[in-house]
Amino acid sequence: MTSGLRAPMLMLNDASHTEIPQIGFGTFQIPADQTQRAVEEALEIGYRHIDTAAAYYNEEAVGAALKATGMAGQVFVTSKLRNCDQGYGQTLIAFEDSRRKLGVDCVDMYLIHWPMPRIDAYRQTWKALLKLRDDGEIRVPAVSNFLPEHLEALYEDSGEYPAVNQIENHPRYSQPETLRFCREHGIAVEAWSPLGHGGDMNAEPVVAAAEAHHVTPAEVVLRWYTQSGRIVIPKSKHADRMRQNLASAGFDLTASELAAIDALSSPEGLIGADPVTYVQSQSWADQKARGNV
Ligand code: NDP
Repeated sequence: MTSGLRAPMLMLNDASHTEIPQIGFGTFQIPADQTQRAVEEALEIGYRHIDTAAAYYNEEAVGAALKATGMAGQVFVTSKLRNCDQGYGQTLIAFEDSRRKLGVDCVDMYLIHWPMPRIDAYRQTWKALLKLRDDGEIRVPAVSNFLPEHLEALYEDSGEYPAVNQIENHPRYSQPETLRFCREHGIAVEAWSPLGHGGDMNAEPVVAAAEAHHVTPAEVVLRWYTQSGRIVIPKSKHADRMRQNLASAGFDLTASELAAIDALSSPEGLIGADPVTYVQSQSWADQKARGNV
């Protein structure tokens, strides 16, 4: 039994004008043995967009949830290429592995997880994603953690920008320059760690807006994205929070409330890696041998 709660839909700027549910369910750091149940619960609550990645080692659990609920084909599924699989030929092989684990014919959106400019393989990787799109294996080729300079490089090589850039985005770190570039070039921004790992909900303008609208700080933060045309993928292990997050589009923030939250961003707010310097090229086996995972 699924509820009638649904996220608003956003039309992307890709050639097919693909529609994506603006609020998806993030699956990073949900323990592997709990992921299937969490995804099934999210689908029951009404999520129709699930975000996973090869690097989360839970694509099989996401696929199992789609199979168990009979909802494959009705849910927008995103996965991401592992960093160590960049490069044209390796991308095609790694994608096939992800698709098999997810148990779908076509992956709705497939992202280059990080640009890793020091490895300098992301442009070849992008060409592989375009081939997968042209062959009907993925609907939307897209990227994650790309800065304007990396997006420009893709455009110079291929003549097209990705339709989506999934980036670290939360009130204390909203990357205004990348947001502006994406807006100017029709690239939808998808916010990862939208709640700042839970830490951005105590900011004064967020708390004030929550009191004014009789909602929670999480709902205020999530509405701040959807009202400004961003996509958002909050993660929670708790059904009440999953429900609250999906229902967060049911009120409107004022222009001054939106501006006050915009003003919280600063370079010190970064909680993830720097896309310019981040390199992670070890395979899973290498990382395990080194005790990193
Ligand atoms: P989030 O910003 O979504 O925060 C998750 C934290 O917030 C958890 O501790 C959760 O706790 C808590 N939380 C969730 N909802 C509420 C609520 N309504 N009220 C109070 N607390 C709440 O962080 P993530 O880092 O998980 O990011 C979301 C998703 O983004 C990931 O799951 C992943 O899919 C994607 N991602 C992508 C990256 C990339 O490089 N492309 C990098 C990192 C993440 P609890 O679970 O206990 O409810």
